[in-house]
Amino acid sequence: MYSTNYHRASSLKDAQALFKKAGDGKFVSGGQTLLPTMKQRLAAPSDLIDLRHVKDLKGIKVSGKKVTIGAATTHAEVATNDKIVKVCPAICSLASHIGDPAVRHMGTIGGSIANNDPAADYPAAMMALGATIHTNKRQIAADKFFKGMFETALKDGEIITAVEFSAPKKAAYSKYPNPASRYAMCGVFVADHGKGDVRVAVTGAGNDGVFRHKAMEKALAADWSPEAVASAKVNEGDMLSDIHGNEAYRANLVRVMAKRAVAAAG
Ligand SMILES: Cc1cc2nc3c(=O)[nH]c(=O)nc-3n(C[C@H](O)[C@H](O)[C@H](O)COP(=O)(O)OP(=O)(O)OC[C@H]3O[C@@H](n4cnc5c(N)ncnc54)[C@H](O)[C@@H]3O)c2cc1C
Repeated sequence: MYSTNYHRASSLKDAQALFKKAGDGKFVSGGQTLLPTMKQRLAAPSDLIDLRHVKDLKGIKVSGKKVTIGAATTHAEVATNDKIVKVCPAICSLASHIGDPAVRHMGTIGGSIANNDPAADYPAAMMALGATIHTNKRQIAADKFFKGMFETALKDGEIITAVEFSAPKKAAYSKYPNPASRYAMCGVFVADHGKGDVRVAVTGAGNDGVFRHKAMEKALAADWSPEAVASAKVNEGDMLSDIHGNEAYRANLVRVMAKRAVAAAG
């Protein structure tokens, strides 16, 4: 790892000021992605601005169906929150299956969606839940936030402050984890928001990161059943191929995970 300067931001304003002053600064939250990247010398920021102690980025609020999760909230905090579990257990279950206990106690929802790893779990949840991403500058719909592999709508120096969504009528997430890392080789989040508004988002399988599967959404809006998604076409040409599985294998995983998610949602 190359040397870097560490700063602990005390407020959002402080974080912005530190970022402006830094030559080539980077925000750090849980460090679960950024620090391994720095250790491999694939990233070499001059300054690390730690967001974990910024009060405005912390905390979970549930008011009726509205759920707001601060960006610096760890996966473990989401997994075990007794208020979220009452309105949207699917996101708690998703968080409880990210990585291992060490990753879950350090990694944050803000860091995960800012990174937009094509195999990360939260991007699928954000898209299927129709979430809004709040930053220090604006609000961005999840559909417009995730732009492709490791790419988001965030501008340089923009900080995610929270994510917000309305709990769906029913939802579930099913993932086929890589046995070593637990990242998704394919993960499908299904959500029924009522009145024919069904969303299906897929992570880990697409050749350009997270995406919504419109054919499955249409099929489920007409008939909410595992059989309905099984008959929807999954285009192999849109799938990722790597050492873990080729396009045909991943296309099949999308169908299988979607069926399991619909069955789990009930
Ligand atoms: C062994 C291992 C297994 C893992 N398994 C999984 C898994 O199964 N599923 C999964 O989804 N993930 C997995 N992860 C990734 C993990 O979820 C990380 O927590 C996540 O990718 C990044 O979150 P972080 O808070 O650690 O971000 P950091 O590493 O601190 O930062 C990541 C990036 O986001 C930026 N950033 C951080 N916070 C903000 C913010 N508030 N606003 C703007 N930019 C910000 C940083 O500048 C950096 O570019 C795994 C990681 C490891 C090491």
